[in-house]
Amino acid sequence: MFRRTVLGVAVALLGLVGVAAPQAAATTEAQVSTAAVVLTYDDSQAAEFVDVVAAGAEVWNTHVSNVRLEKAEPGTEADITIIANDGWPQATLGPFFPGEGGATVWYGRQAVNDGYNLVRIASHELGHILGLPDVKPGPCESLMSGSTGGVDCDNVNPNAEEIAAVEANYAGGRISAPHKGTVLVER
Ligand SMILES: [Zn+2]
Repeated sequence: MFRRTVLGVAVALLGLVGVAAPQAAATTEAQVSTAAVVLTYDDSQAAEFVDVVAAGAEVWNTHVSNVRLEKAEPGTEADITIIANDGWPQATLGPFFPGEGGATVWYGRQAVNDGYNLVRIASHELGHILGLPDVKPGPCESLMSGSTGGVDCDNVNPNAEEIAAVEANYAGGRISAPHKGTVLVER
């Protein structure tokens, strides 16, 4: 009777361990992702677009784990500069890595005035920083179709292909791309 009870407790404990183990593994995996490449951005020139730029960065942080976009601490050198202006949105093509410099997003009000989704503009331009070229023309479900997705397109998220491409860009060491640094202009 006693033994059976002990055995029962042991089985129950094993059961608990069995349940607990996957959670522990998931936690470890989440911790590994904090070792992702971190790119900081300076939004001190982003004017009225500070919040939508943060939302665009969060889009990428939600969808990829090999790279993270974080707002730079004041007084520190940022990897990405965000500049609001009155032209068309533009960005330099990456993939950029920490400390390289040259990564810039020009958040152009022309697209805002034409009625394009503000967060989609931000996540699209940040997609260029992460090494994604334009895919134009393209459907709304593609983030990198940009303006060709339609002025009413409010999809702010990358599709599976775009997510996979960014994950691949930041899967290992620093990679170079043939057209890196090219300024891509939306219009
Ligand atoms: Zn573009």
